[in-house]
Amino acid sequence: MTTYTDLNTPLRTIMTPGPVEVDPRVLRAMSTPIVGQFDPAFTHIMNEVMEMLRHLFETKNKWAFPIDGTSRSGIEALLCSVIEPGDKVLVPIFGRFGHLLTEICERYGAEVHTMECRWGEVFDQEDVIKEIKRIQPKITAIVHGETSTGCMQPLDQIGKACRDQDVLLIVDAVASTGGTPVKVDEWYIDGIVAGTQKCLSVPSGMAPLTYNDRIEKVVHARKKVERGISTEEDRINEQTNNHPTIKSNYFDISMLQDYWGPRRLNHHTEATSMLYALREGLRIVIEEGLENRFTRHKYHEKALIAGLEAMGLSLFGNRECKLPTVTCVSIPNGVDPESVRRMLLQQFGIEIASSFGPLQGKIWRIGSMGYSCRKENILFVLGALEAVLIRHGVDINIGKGLQAALEVYINQPATALVTQ
Ligand SMILES: *Cc1c(COP(=O)(O)O)cnc(C)c1O
Repeated sequence: MTTYTDLNTPLRTIMTPGPVEVDPRVLRAMSTPIVGQFDPAFTHIMNEVMEMLRHLFETKNKWAFPIDGTSRSGIEALLCSVIEPGDKVLVPIFGRFGHLLTEICERYGAEVHTMECRWGEVFDQEDVIKEIKRIQPKITAIVHGETSTGCMQPLDQIGKACRDQDVLLIVDAVASTGGTPVKVDEWYIDGIVAGTQKCLSVPSGMAPLTYNDRIEKVVHARKKVERGISTEEDRINEQTNNHPTIKSNYFDISMLQDYWGPRRLNHHTEATSMLYALREGLRIVIEEGLENRFTRHKYHEKALIAGLEAMGLSLFGNRECKLPTVTCVSIPNGVDPESVRRMLLQQFGIEIASSFGPLQGKIWRIGSMGYSCRKENILFVLGALEAVLIRHGVDINIGKGLQAALEVYINQPATALVTQ
């Protein structure tokens, strides 16, 4: 019989758009002993996390809690709870994750209308608003920070237009929340999902979300009106007047509300250790302060870009809509992109990301998210990338990259910006 060794993972410097390095404080919190899911000690933690999530999302919404599952589970929960077969949904697509939104909407029977722009660009908000007025969807579903292209879609005017037109706006802010401003109430966002393994530096496995009473009303009306199966609870209580047709038990947000809210009706068993992790991740965000955190992400992004450009590399995508937490680098001609990534990993223990679809083989993506977004990592990735590119025979400006980043770090010290 094979003997299996203790877990012994290499220490990595993770500069991808997720999963990123987990803050050691979060790892420690995860080894906290388990308590039962209805133990007051635990329901207190659940309430704290809801309050902390409202702070993260800058919202006064009543409902803010995590779905147990990776980020897409939160997206699916919101969409499947709201979409009824035949509902019109508008999905403006500017990268890979717009296609994910489309697919989920289609699976739940929506009539999906898409609009697309070139990868590396975002939409003029006016164009989206025109399309909303023309199609008159029940829902507009859109990505905020597109990890696949490193672009960020402005949403403030789209949100206002959706509210004026009585359209629900549901947003995938998985890659942006906690790294750059996401103002749920100010931008009139009705439902939104964040990511743990991105800018919160918590492991993958939970999807924090929030939604307002407009969404709650739609879900509530569905439960009342439609005929279909009865819930577990109805069956146990022999009440059959409630016939939800939300086609998922796990993702039915009305049932999740009854679990997270004061009724505390049993649904799933909350993922105890992940909730400890999320709580600690959010506590770190609150201690640092949202504004300081956003400034820190911009600051290290600036040093990274300065270094890459001084090296002679060029960035992919329109800079005016760049997502501060993901930097896309055009791969120099004639280089084997996977060989570069492999050498970075094998020789330096650094991971950067490749890319999808039309950008495959054309760009590398460097994440600077959460705990991974710090000076030593930026300098390390710049130095290592230079060394690896030299070994691959790429003609770069030797010695310039690190100097340019140091210029930022030495001449504009972070202490003035970050009060951590
Ligand atoms: C990472 C990511 C997702 C998917 O997250 P999972 O945790 O892998 O389910 C969705 N949307 C965006 C924008 C992302 O960056």
